[in-house]
Amino acid sequence: MTQTYSGDAAIPSQASGENAATNPGLAPFDISDYRGVAGYNFYKEDPLIRRFVAQNTGDQTAKHAAAIQNHLMEFGELAGGVLNDLTIDAHKEGKYGEVVQFDAVGNRIDEVRYCYEQREIRRICFEQGIVNLNYHEDWPHEFTMLHRMALAYLANQNGEGGVTCPLAMTDGMIRVLEALGTPEQKERYLPLVAGPESDSHFMAGQYVTERVGGSNVGQNRTVARKREDGTWILNGEKWFCSNPGDLWVTTARVLDAAGEPTGTIGMFLVPRIKRNGDLNGCRILRKKDIIGSRGKITVETVYEDLEAEELGRPAHGLANMIKYVIGTSRIHVAVAASGMSRRAFLEARAYVQSREAYGKKVIEYPTVLRTLAEMQILHSSMNWCNFRNYLWSDEKHAASQLLTPLLKYVSTTHATWITHEAMMLHGGNGILGDFSVLPRLHNDAIINETWEGTHNIIGEHVLKAFSRPRIRQAYFELIEDNLKVYEAGDVELPYVKKMFQQERRVLEDCEDYGSEWASMNRLAICDALYHCLALSEWMREAGDGEELIIGFARGLAEIVERGRLGPTRPHGIFSDRDLLEALVAY
Ligand SMILES: Cc1cc2nc3c(=O)[nH]c(=O)nc-3n(C[C@H](O)[C@H](O)[C@H](O)COP(=O)(O)OP(=O)(O)OC[C@H]3O[C@@H](n4cnc5c(N)ncnc54)[C@H](O)[C@@H]3O)c2cc1C
Repeated sequence: MTQTYSGDAAIPSQASGENAATNPGLAPFDISDYRGVAGYNFYKEDPLIRRFVAQNTGDQTAKHAAAIQNHLMEFGELAGGVLNDLTIDAHKEGKYGEVVQFDAVGNRIDEVRYCYEQREIRRICFEQGIVNLNYHEDWPHEFTMLHRMALAYLANQNGEGGVTCPLAMTDGMIRVLEALGTPEQKERYLPLVAGPESDSHFMAGQYVTERVGGSNVGQNRTVARKREDGTWILNGEKWFCSNPGDLWVTTARVLDAAGEPTGTIGMFLVPRIKRNGDLNGCRILRKKDIIGSRGKITVETVYEDLEAEELGRPAHGLANMIKYVIGTSRIHVAVAASGMSRRAFLEARAYVQSREAYGKKVIEYPTVLRTLAEMQILHSSMNWCNFRNYLWSDEKHAASQLLTPLLKYVSTTHATWITHEAMMLHGGNGILGDFSVLPRLHNDAIINETWEGTHNIIGEHVLKAFSRPRIRQAYFELIEDNLKVYEAGDVELPYVKKMFQQERRVLEDCEDYGSEWASMNRLAICDALYHCLALSEWMREAGDGEELIIGFARGLAEIVERGRLGPTRPHGIFSDRDLLEALVAY
C-alpha cells in the first residue's frame, strides 16, 4: 500500500497494528508508552523525607504535625502533576519571558512579561504558601523552616522552572523585611511580597553583582547619595539581575556629605514603581542569554537616579545582606540542588527499569546498578544533612553558619554529577529536551554552582567560619553528639567509623599546615567537614538497626574511601546485590 505523507496528521502512529505488520520498525517497543515519572506524588514517593518529617514534627501538636503532612502530600501531588506539566509547557521556544522596554507610544516601561504557564506555576505555588504560609489566615500554626524547605524541595523536582530562584529571593525579601524593616516598610511591602491577596507572585530580587565582579562585593561601583528627606538616590549598574520585578534589595557604595565615595557598601530597598506612581530609574538593558534557569529571566540594568530606601543601617549593609538575604538564598540553592538530584535519580531509575538492551533491562547490568546506587547514596546523604540543617538554622545553632555555605557547595556539586549521570543512563534520549526534564535540570544545576557564590568563594566562607572558635566548637559538638548516640546503640559499623576518623584527622591535621595550605585546599577541607557530618549522621540513624540506613552509611563510607570511579571493595556493600537493589528501590 502506498502511503503519502502530507504534514504531521498523515504520519502513522508507531503503535498502529496495520503499519506494524508491514513495517516492523514501527511496531510497539519497550518504551512506546514511556512517560518517566510524570504524575508521581513527589512526597508520597520519598520515604526518606517522609521519615525525616515524621521524626521531626514530634515537638509540634498532633494537629500541627498532621497539617504539615497533609500539606506536603497535597503539594507533592501538585508538583508531580499539574506543576510538572505547566513547567514543561513553559519551557518551549517562544514561551520564555521577555523584556518590554517601551509601551506602544514610546514611554519607557521596563517590564518583564511571562507566558500564561509561567504565571500559573507562580500563582499556584504562591497560593500554596510555599514562602508565605504564615501570612495565610487559614493556617493557624507556626510555619517552620522544615515545612518551608520541604515544600521548596518538592517544587525543585521540576527544576528551577522560573519559580524556585524567585521563591528563594522572595523568601529572603520577606525575612529581611521582617528583621530590619521599619514599621512603615513592613506595612507597605510585606503585603506585596507575602500577602495572600497580592498578585505579585515571587517578583522580588537581589541585585549585587556588577561588571567588575560578583565575588568581591566591596568592589561595587554603584553609588548611593542620601537626600534631605532620608531617601537615597542610586546611580550605577547591575550585571546580573534575576527575576526583575516589583521590589528588590541592592547594594551600593555610600557617598559622604561632600559626594565622595566612602568604604561603606550599604543595602537598599528598591520598588519598581516610586511612591508618586512613576516608574523608578531602573533601565533594563537586555535579557541575558543563559544556559539554564530560563523559566525566569536574568537581565542587565542601569540605575539612573534610582530612588531607594535604606534597609537596616547602611554601615551594616554587607553584613545584613549576607546574614538575611544571601544566607537564605544559599539554603534555597542547596535545597534546589537536592530537589533536582532527586528528580534526576527518579527519572534514571524509571528509564533503566523500562529500557532494554541486549535482551535485558538496562538496570540488570551491574555497572548500571552501581551508578544508580551511588546516585542514591550521594543524594540521600546530602539531602539528609540539608534537612538537618533546616532544624539547626531554625534554632539559630552556631554550626549553621558553617553548614549553610558548606551544604551549598556540596549539594550543588553533587547535583551536577547526578543530573549528568541520569542523562547518560538515558543514552541519546537523555540529550533530548523533549524526552525528559533532564537536560533542563542539568543546566539549572550548573547555574546553582555559581549563583550565590562560586565554590572557591563558598570554600573561603567555610574556612572563615571554621576558624571561629564558637562555630568550630558547635560543629564538633554536633558530630560528637551523633557519635554518642551511635556508641550507645547495639549496631557496630567499624568500617564507617574508620572512614569517619580518617576524615576527622584531615580536619585536625590541617591546623598544622598553615593558612596558605588551607587556602589552597579549601575544597578538600570542605569535603572532610561534610564527610564527618554525613557519616556521623548515618551512624546515629543506624542505631535502630534499619538495614537501608546502614546501607547508606556503608555506601557513603566506601565512596569516601575510593572516590566515585575507583574499584568497589570486594566484600563491601557494592558486592551485596540485594542490598543495592533495595537502596535503589527506596
Ligand atoms: C544565571 C545567573 C543568575 C544570576 N543572578 C544574580 C542576581 O540576581 N543577582 C546578583 O547579584 N548576581 C547574580 N548572579 C551573579 C553571580 O552571583 C556571580 O556570577 C557570582 O557571584 C560570581 O561572580 P562573577 O561572575 O563576577 O565571577 P568573579 O567574581 O569574577 O570570579 C571569577 C572566578 O574567580 C574566582 N575567585 C574570585 N575570588 C576568589 C577568591 N577569593 N579565591 C579564589 N577564587 C576566587 C571565582 O571562584 C571564579 O571562578 C547570577 C549568575 C548567574 C549565572
